[in-house]
Amino acid sequence: MEITEVKIYLREQEDKKLRAYATVTFDDAFVVRDLRIIDGRRGFFVAMPSRKISENCPRCNHKNVVGSRFCNQCGTNLEAIIRNQGPTDLKQEHRDIAHPISSEARKYIQQVVLEAYERKKSAATTAEVPAPE
Ligand SMILES: [Zn+2]
Repeated sequence: MEITEVKIYLREQEDKKLRAYATVTFDDAFVVRDLRIIDGRRGFFVAMPSRKISENCPRCNHKNVVGSRFCNQCGTNLEAIIRNQGPTDLKQEHRDIAHPISSEARKYIQQVVLEAYERKKSAATTAEVPAPE
């Protein structure tokens, strides 16, 4: 497995921790979007793309976005029900869509993406052109 292309989308103004999004192509054949370059406490790292997990309404079984106060289908007060359930896995709101399964692959992806990010950042500052929206 080889990364054949990395596209970096700088996002420095939006969030202090989120620095950029990356789109990565593997073997000229498979694209993964929405990797995030995060400025963490121990330096930059690459977060894998993730999605919000939905939560089934206990009354009608409609899938709502996690954290919804009311069911979008039947209007049940989800907050009250969920609070009564006590501590659960509610903090696990995001789940990876795609991610490496070996530490070697994780290291490789992170290294390539961070190198591309550094190149993009220095190119953006030397050219003195505002990054495209
Ligand atoms: Zn419902």
